[in-house]
Amino acid sequence: MTGAIKYLPARTFVAVAFAVFGFVGLIVWGEYSSWRSQVARIEADLMQTAKALVQHADDTVDMAKFPLAALITQIEQERGGPGMPAKLTQVMRRQVDTTPWLGALAVIDADGKMVATSSRIDAGAANFSDREYFVFHQSSDTLEPVLGRPLKNKLSGQWILPVTQRINNPDGSFGGVALAAFILTELTNFFQGFSLGSEGSFLLVRRDGVVLARAPFLQTLLGSSISSDDLFTTHLRQRHSGSYHFVSSIDDTQRIGGFYQSERSGMVGLAAVSQSEALATWMKGARIRWMSCFVLVAITGFLVWRWRRQIMLRRASEALLVAREAEFRLLAEGSADLIQRFNGHGIREYLSPSVREIFGVDAEAMLGTHILENLHEDDHDAVTQVMTRLREGSTRENMIVRRKRADGRQIWLETTLNRLPGGTGGTDIRIVAVTRDVTRQKNLQEELDALANTDELTQLANRRSFNIHFEDMVLQAAQQRTPLSVLMIDADRFKFFNDTYGHAAGDDCLRAIANVVRGSILRSKHLAARYGGEEFAVLLPDTNGAGALKAAENIRQRVAGLQLPHEKNPPWGYVTISIGTATFHPARGDRLTTAELFERADHALYRAKNSGRNRVAAAEQEAAMATGRPDIKSV
Ligand code: GH3
Ligand code: MG
Ligand code: MG
Repeated sequence: MTGAIKYLPARTFVAVAFAVFGFVGLIVWGEYSSWRSQVARIEADLMQTAKALVQHADDTVDMAKFPLAALITQIEQERGGPGMPAKLTQVMRRQVDTTPWLGALAVIDADGKMVATSSRIDAGAANFSDREYFVFHQSSDTLEPVLGRPLKNKLSGQWILPVTQRINNPDGSFGGVALAAFILTELTNFFQGFSLGSEGSFLLVRRDGVVLARAPFLQTLLGSSISSDDLFTTHLRQRHSGSYHFVSSIDDTQRIGGFYQSERSGMVGLAAVSQSEALATWMKGARIRWMSCFVLVAITGFLVWRWRRQIMLRRASEALLVAREAEFRLLAEGSADLIQRFNGHGIREYLSPSVREIFGVDAEAMLGTHILENLHEDDHDAVTQVMTRLREGSTRENMIVRRKRADGRQIWLETTLNRLPGGTGGTDIRIVAVTRDVTRQKNLQEELDALANTDELTQLANRRSFNIHFEDMVLQAAQQRTPLSVLMIDADRFKFFNDTYGHAAGDDCLRAIANVVRGSILRSKHLAARYGGEEFAVLLPDTNGAGALKAAENIRQRVAGLQLPHEKNPPWGYVTISIGTATFHPARGDRLTTAELFERADHALYRAKNSGRNRVAAAEQEAAMATGRPDIKSV
């Protein structure tokens, strides 16, 4: 059971988790693509920047050709002429003064001695024969301008980039070197036009790896060689332009570099940016996206977890419910009593198999039927009230009702109704009813009741029953303000009858009188009882004094009419009775107890006896006589 409970939600959970991971995977892939294209764009930009840098450097070096060419032409024309150095100096100064990027021009003779310079500072006896460019031109025939290592002008303190050209003597031998010095800052200022961020840098490198310029300015790097660097050992061997990632040896930060090598001069430009700085904006956006994604996944995860927990709880409680139901059925189905379950509307939801025995129908046929169905009409109100009380919060109710079985027989049912826990009240409740067939007990009880209330000899109500009814009827009469009359009947000289005809004949006679009394009243309304020995009593509700007299007279005449021989009852010689009546009149202000009313009737009877027997006397007549108003006649 537990396995099944866990299995289903787990499968759904895996599906949802799969979807979430798929979603996250897509996001990661998207982010990676975005990062790649961002890097590719940066790389392309850097390469373009490097290209622009190198082209500018090429152009600058090309520009140097003109002043050098002019200078050499001048030297060749004026060679050996008078005042040549002074003239040359003048030309050079004019040239330098009108060319902003040109720091200086100088002419060095074959011995390494400076013969003319645009500089106003005296070079003195300095010798330049040890300089790299001097050594180069001394041994090389080329007449092309050559780019030298950057150096600090000994005289001006300015960093310059020398471009030198060999001067030939007329015979073609080495005649010295003409030098044009670029102001390095003029070149690097151009670089500054490109923005590479606070951690970006430009590098201009000669074909052989000598660093010609760097922006931002870094003195230690100028003139040094980076030929052993990856750029030269790996990347430039494969292609002339491109990009690569490296860790800067200067500040140990991860960088992206774009490089370009000039086909014209072999110069290499390298533009580099700090990777973290270049991707900062992207990272900022990405972080927000990642956070949103994380929050989304976290929320989804939480919701899925809660959802799964709820499903598991629900399934667990469902399983518990199923177990309870099975348990309930097991108990119910083993019971001889009928177990039923009703909803709040009184509709049957379950019946135990005992229904076959008790109602005479199958449980299936009874499902969905209403509690009132087939119940005795007189019990409908009681059942409706029980249901109302249960709906209003009562937890247990009992009732005894009559029901018609399938075979038409009426049965008595004793039912205990229990409200089940749960439900919000009203019609949202469930009721379990335990029903037992009590028809036999009920019949037995009725028999016993009848025995306890019936006189055996005459089958009239006995004295006990009379007393109970008498109390009830007096109360009812007082409430409804209707009259109630009592007749007290006594056989005349009955002792003699027994003496003459025997006790058995006496019993027969009493039965005959009882039959007359019974036959003279309305059984549904009136009550006739054998009060004792040969005395009978009749209760006549809703009957006034006149009515009582009339009824009494009728009984008296019918008994006399039987003409049962009773020789010792003169002057008649047959069985007669005497009757005393009394009437309770609440509407007239009577306030009587049963005992008082009974006593009145008894007094009236006593009077009937005393005044000759075989007659009726009314208590009211007696009262009227006492007040001097004999308005009720004796009969
Ligand atoms: P009175 O006219 O004054 O009423 O005379 P009475 O003889 O009827 O008066 P009393 O009350 O003295 O006698 C009642 C007699 O009724 C006594 C008894 O023998 C007789 N009796 C009482 N109960 C029964 C009974 O159950 N069966 C028979 N056969 N006689 C009974
Ligand atoms: Mg008598
Ligand atoms: Mg008597």
